[in-house]
Amino acid sequence: MKKLTVKFIKEIKEDLIQRRQELVRELDVDAVQVAENDYDAKFPEFGSKDDENAAEVAVFEKNLSLEKTMEVSLYNVNKALKKIEKGHYGFCEKCNSLIAQKRLKAFPSATACMTCKKKFL
Ligand SMILES: [Zn+2]
Repeated sequence: MKKLTVKFIKEIKEDLIQRRQELVRELDVDAVQVAENDYDAKFPEFGSKDDENAAEVAVFEKNLSLEKTMEVSLYNVNKALKKIEKGHYGFCEKCNSLIAQKRLKAFPSATACMTCKKKFL
């Protein structure tokens, strides 16, 4: 059976930890942490005039969509790190085969192999 090398997993782990730091840093700008892995988008305060209120809503909507995307990424990064800890990182969640190293390098938090991804998405 094919296996990932310790060196490869170490590199992936460093990459994931770096991604997690970046995500947490970006989330801190546009969102407020309410619980572990749970963030709420910030609602800005520009003033009480109509145009200021409109600008607040526009920024909030932008923060909201950013926050959702980053929250999902952070969740996936944390999930991948947990798998590394447990020693079953790199296997497809659908068919259990080893995901190609090239794909893991590009998407360290990938949970399915290319074959399954094509089949299910
Ligand atoms: Zn698969």
